[in-house]
Amino acid sequence: MKSEFEALEEKYESDVKKLQRTCPHKRKSEWREQWWALGHSTGYIVRVCLNCNRILDKKKVMPRFRQERWRNVERTIKKKKREREERRLANAIKKRKGEEISKTS
Ligand SMILES: [Zn+2]
Repeated sequence: MKSEFEALEEKYESDVKKLQRTCPHKRKSEWREQWWALGHSTGYIVRVCLNCNRILDKKKVMPRFRQERWRNVERTIKKKKREREERRLANAIKKRKGEEISKTS
């Protein structure tokens, strides 16, 4: 037999479903991160109805740990590029100095 708690839960769920079916969804939330548990992203961002809480729009986003990893990759690429540029400049200066020396001698 169902406990009173279970019966209440069922009633709550069916009431929410009914509300979400009949609600005109006039006011949408901003995009927000969807969590499957507190602080744990599902990897989606959603917009929900501010009246009935139904998800109206859903988009996949890059998970935070991948965003972090990607930022590190970008940082490394930038650093390598800068180092290459510095080497190129240093070589150009060295070369010019060599040419000047050979010109004067
Ligand atoms: Zn609604």
